[in-house]
Amino acid sequence: MQEITFGGIVLKELAQTASGVQVSSTMAMDTLAKQMKADGIDVIGFGAGEPDFNTPDHIKAAAEKAIADNVTRYTPASGTVALKEAVCRRMGEDCGLDYRPSQVVVTSGAKHCVYIALRTLVDPGDQVILPAPFWVSYLELIKMAGGVPVVVTAGEDAGFKITAEQLAAAITPKTKALILNNPCNPTGMVYSREELSAIARVCVEKDIYVVSDEIYYGLLYDGVEFTSLASLGEGIKERTILVNGVSKSYAMTGWRIGYLLASEGIAKVMANYLSHSTGSPSSVSQAAAVAALTGPQDCVEEMRAAFEQRRNYIVERVNAIEGVSCLKPEGAFYIMMNVEKQLGRAIGGEKIGSSDDFAAALLRHGLVATVPGSGMGAPNFVRWSYAVGMDNIQRGMDRLEEFLKG
Ligand code: PMP
Repeated sequence: MQEITFGGIVLKELAQTASGVQVSSTMAMDTLAKQMKADGIDVIGFGAGEPDFNTPDHIKAAAEKAIADNVTRYTPASGTVALKEAVCRRMGEDCGLDYRPSQVVVTSGAKHCVYIALRTLVDPGDQVILPAPFWVSYLELIKMAGGVPVVVTAGEDAGFKITAEQLAAAITPKTKALILNNPCNPTGMVYSREELSAIARVCVEKDIYVVSDEIYYGLLYDGVEFTSLASLGEGIKERTILVNGVSKSYAMTGWRIGYLLASEGIAKVMANYLSHSTGSPSSVSQAAAVAALTGPQDCVEEMRAAFEQRRNYIVERVNAIEGVSCLKPEGAFYIMMNVEKQLGRAIGGEKIGSSDDFAAALLRHGLVATVPGSGMGAPNFVRWSYAVGMDNIQRGMDRLEEFLKG
């Protein structure tokens, strides 16, 4: 428990749920890399989980117009009707989903979606199943909602994907929900329709909810087709809270718009919760999101194609370097580099006992910032984001190669 003092006096304890929240390992590494950069050191950052592209011009123009037209006031707490309609149309076109605007809740970013969804589902002591490797925030968000995370690990040999059998074995009478992230951050892995159907069957049979975070659905490679969990039948659709947003597909991380889709009853509860926590998301950002979802979609394809090219390059380079390796992911913009063979070595005079040590040494001696897998339930891995320009990816790989010569 963190002690709070003021003028030498120890003040009352803070709430346990808040004090227990860990700093995000992604952010910690990013902060360190930024500090080194600010100190004039030429660090190449592979840590950040956001596209390096700029928000497309037609989207920015819509925001400028919204400001000029004085669209600068509160909107309904759960979002404008125009945006909810745009979400329904886009989800219908892209994912074959049939939702009405009354089933949509707009939030200030997809991270906030996950928070609201968990707040809506979880009572203190409820278990939430979390497949590992996982996005760092899920673990903390479950705890912040008073829930108990039950981590189910999918190893590299299983393509980092849990099976329906693993899921069934982890369910207890206290299980309230599963968090499924497809395509996955940090692994980039994509569940096939068959794998998802088997998971959906277990969720329906055992009657648990699913928070299905599909924010990377627009970034798929090798012609892989996306299956949205909620498209697999009414039973699973009723139990799914779908998380999506504009941050990744449209390079809009700073605009802070995410959306939840759920049955009307659940959407209503989420909207009520939202109305007392943040209130309405930014009116200008909502106008921009409408333009993103209803405007030309070739910008999404251009960015996706660039990511695919980078993925091909980084995967090939990593696997050509002695002593490290990675799977070839089919989605998102991350790879998980296996550093097991590096453990126990010394590089640059530093003993490498863990992936944290590896990432720290790579930053200090190789001037490359990555994120260790320890905070993601993947202790022997290091995550690289390839949402970075091709020239920097090339330089980063050269530096990795040099660093490993140690
Ligand atoms: N879900 C996943 C799996 C993510 O990787 C991220 C961003 N790192 C988010 C949600 C959050 O997205 P947003 O910026 O819209 O809050």
